Amino acid sequence: MIPRRLALAAVASSSGPKSAINGLRSTPAWHWTASRSASSTATTTNQQNPDTMAAARQHSYAHTLQLPQTAFGMRPDQRLRPTYLKRTTDDLYQWQAAQTDRDPFILHDGPPYANGDVHTGHALNKILKDVINRHQLLEGRTVHYVPGFDCHGMPIEHKALQEAAKEAKKLKLPPPKLTPLEVRARARALATATVATQTAAFKGFAVMGDWDRPYLTMAPEYVTRQLKVFEKMVERGLIYRQNKPVYFSPSTQTALAEAELEYEEHTSTSVYVKMPFLTGPTDSTPVSALIWTTTPWTLPANQAIAVHADLEYAVIAAVSGEHWLVGVDRLADLPFLRTDDGEPAYTVVRTMQGRNLVGWTYRAPFKSEPCPVVAADYVTADSGTGLVHTAPGHGMDDYLTGLKHGLAVFSPVDDYGKFTSETLPELVGKPVLGDGTTAVLDLLTTQNVLVYQHKYVHKYPYDWRSKKPVIQRATPQWFAAIDAIKTEATSAVNAIAMVPETGRTRLRRYVADRSEWCISRQRAWGVPIPVVYHAESGEPFMTPQSVAHIAQVLEANGGADAWWTLPDEAFVLPEMRAKGPWKKGADTMDVWFDSGTSWTLLGSDTVADVYFEGSDQHRGWFQSALLTSIATRGHAPYKKIITHGFLVDEKKQKMSKSIGNVVAPDTIINGGSDKKAAPGYGVDGLRLWVAMAEYTRDIALGKQVLASAGEAARKIRNTCRYLLGNLHGVDASVLTLPAEGLTPLDRYVLHELGGMSRVVQAAYRSHAYYKAVQAINVFTNNVLSAVYFEALKDRLYADAPASPSRRAAQSVLANTLVHYTQAIAPILPLMVEEIYDHGRHVLTAPRADKTEADGYFVARKWEDVPAAWDQPALADDFAKLITVRNAANQLLEQLRLRKLIKTNQEAELTLSTADPTFRAFLEPYAATLQSLVVSSHVCVTETPDADAKYGSTPDHVEAGLPARLTLTARRARAHKCPRCWNYWSAAEGALCARCTAAVGGGQ
Ligand SMILES: [Zn+2]
Repeated sequence: MIPRRLALAAVASSSGPKSAINGLRSTPAWHWTASRSASSTATTTNQQNPDTMAAARQHSYAHTLQLPQTAFGMRPDQRLRPTYLKRTTDDLYQWQAAQTDRDPFILHDGPPYANGDVHTGHALNKILKDVINRHQLLEGRTVHYVPGFDCHGMPIEHKALQEAAKEAKKLKLPPPKLTPLEVRARARALATATVATQTAAFKGFAVMGDWDRPYLTMAPEYVTRQLKVFEKMVERGLIYRQNKPVYFSPSTQTALAEAELEYEEHTSTSVYVKMPFLTGPTDSTPVSALIWTTTPWTLPANQAIAVHADLEYAVIAAVSGEHWLVGVDRLADLPFLRTDDGEPAYTVVRTMQGRNLVGWTYRAPFKSEPCPVVAADYVTADSGTGLVHTAPGHGMDDYLTGLKHGLAVFSPVDDYGKFTSETLPELVGKPVLGDGTTAVLDLLTTQNVLVYQHKYVHKYPYDWRSKKPVIQRATPQWFAAIDAIKTEATSAVNAIAMVPETGRTRLRRYVADRSEWCISRQRAWGVPIPVVYHAESGEPFMTPQSVAHIAQVLEANGGADAWWTLPDEAFVLPEMRAKGPWKKGADTMDVWFDSGTSWTLLGSDTVADVYFEGSDQHRGWFQSALLTSIATRGHAPYKKIITHGFLVDEKKQKMSKSIGNVVAPDTIINGGSDKKAAPGYGVDGLRLWVAMAEYTRDIALGKQVLASAGEAARKIRNTCRYLLGNLHGVDASVLTLPAEGLTPLDRYVLHELGGMSRVVQAAYRSHAYYKAVQAINVFTNNVLSAVYFEALKDRLYADAPASPSRRAAQSVLANTLVHYTQAIAPILPLMVEEIYDHGRHVLTAPRADKTEADGYFVARKWEDVPAAWDQPALADDFAKLITVRNAANQLLEQLRLRKLIKTNQEAELTLSTADPTFRAFLEPYAATLQSLVVSSHVCVTETPDADAKYGSTPDHVEAGLPARLTLTARRARAHKCPRCWNYWSAAEGALCARCTAAVGGGQ
């Protein structure tokens, strides 16, 4: 039997007046409402009604309770935001950068384009980088994070030109024709202004970095470094000029690299054209080759027809009586070779192998000389006619075939995408993607060679900036030879750490698929290609010495603008001047070459620890950085690549202005104009949303995810408020756990705290930040809020201030504050420094030698939890105890609903089980259960309390308990203590024994 004695023991050690605190809401300076937010369903059951609260205000023991005290508010004080932002960004960066005894951690920033406002995608990118940096700081490293800005290139030049046109329009003038220097001045002003606004925005997200000394790709010293890389590549023989087809954007009049293309749905005119054979066929009736193309405007540049040697071809007689040559496997698919009933509208005259066609000649529609039939491996039986129109000036495959067979690289199209005078007069000046195509079709019709035409919808490359279609066109361009370094580059990719691992295949594929890199652009806003051409022969002159000379002249004359201001002569090596005259080139470098060489900032052989960007950079910056570093240093510029996905809304739709689902970072922080529709979640809310995202996939942004991030941030803040509120009046010595006074519940919480801390640390180390947030949230909700904080209030508020029991509780809270704050530190820097300001008495050890390190919480390194905190057996016990606690709360909830009791403290609870083992398990935990349930008495018996009025029998299987347990309750038989409200007093109005001791100054 158990006994009364045990129940009394429970009484003596514990109790639980949430009521006490709720009853004291009028206490000045402490408006404790956090308890509501920090409640689970289990603990919200013990609410006071207004009558009791009113009564409480009058009782005279309020001043004897140790109520929480802290100025750390429920919400951050917005007036303090600038102070904390400065401390956590610039100040902290400078301080830690000066800690030379730490190992460096280099996160090399990928530079965003300095051409517009910061959007939430930027915020995501910069905050993710900041989380890794702040975690490294806690790991004891010195963080090297120099933010960069990509200043050159089409996007900025385009915007500068648009602005100039707008200004002219206001004055009713046509768009001005600007000189390169004017374009550069405007572009530079635009980039400079944008760098300033973007910097302010990034600092506003509490991103720590060397914001006073960012790297700008337009800075003269940056250009010097970039030209040094170029010089080394020239030295290795990796830079060459060639007249060959490149992607060319008529809308922006420049060559583009493949990385600058976007593939869009596009409607082309697809045509089937016959080209009569001049030599080859022995038939009595003339035979024509039938070719298919979706770019009829390239027909004037036709130089050959390609066939596959192993494909079978047929001479067919069409309905008209004409004889055409077509691939046998294509016959069934050609719409014009069928009657209205779907029957074949041709007869096969004879068939032959493709190899037998090679060497035949035909007459192309716009050319008088005969053209040859050649063999090519890429010809398939999957589309077209099996006979491929070949124009080496307008396609890479065609170009390579042309090289093999000595075909002309003919491309009668200018920078604006218009036919030049090299072709027929009917076409000259017409845009190939517009009237030019129509004119070609007209000519084909006139010549009676157009067999069939129809609209054809397919994916077609567009200029990613102007969003207009591009063409392939042969022009003399500068290239970097990727083939020569491909093996080195791909083996370097194999050695790099990748998060997620799928990035490796992507990067390797982008490198493997590329044989050369077109690096010249026909624009003004960039770094000049350092070359001079012979004024008469047009031959380029470029050697390592000439490149070094040009770089030196530019450096000595204030930067790249000098290319346009100084005479040609200045850029020619003195010993070459007599061999002139020379003319400097007009091309600039691909901006991917600019940003790709940013590793030069790190030092000659330094490798960055991490590059961390969006997954589109596998084909962009990751690749251009890899190629330039491999080409000149022989190794990759990074040890690890981490990539994130892109923003989508909650319906997984891409963010776009036209859909109207874009959310600006400022709206997330400060709220929209309608605060109900778009509440502000503060910098903490924004950052927590980022950290919660499984960022390797697409990241959802919308009301729901933001609200849940905001709610999580609020809970974390209120948890810290509870911790700080109950740690007033102690110092750092409270961190030493006492030898006595720790309850099983305290030890259980330490066990859970340790588990959380280790999971969080592992999550940060593996860059799975969302797992850290999950662990923090689970610990906050399931351990602190649902179990511990509620159970602890009686001890904290009503036990004597210096009693071992209260000190033990505070000791656990203080250690919780340390590990909890360090767990959130990489994600919520503003909150953490504010916590530090309110908790320095605990978080800073009292020392005589105060150092600057005491200025920041994160100056402390990550503290591992002592192994002694691990109590797996105790945790198993608590899983059962919390199940019992939930059953008890259910029962008491019923009693409250039936108005039989008002608070759990009014009830005495009996737990009975016939199972002796289970009983032996429960008995020592009677006091623990009593504080978990916050009732006045809990006793464990073999048989149910016969006098109990109320009972219930949880099913032991469902409840997860080892045996059947009967719970019964009755009204407490003792009297209510007017101080702690537990029903522990011997007489009406008298203090309980604990309170008598506490008030009497006893312990
Ligand atoms: Zn009391």
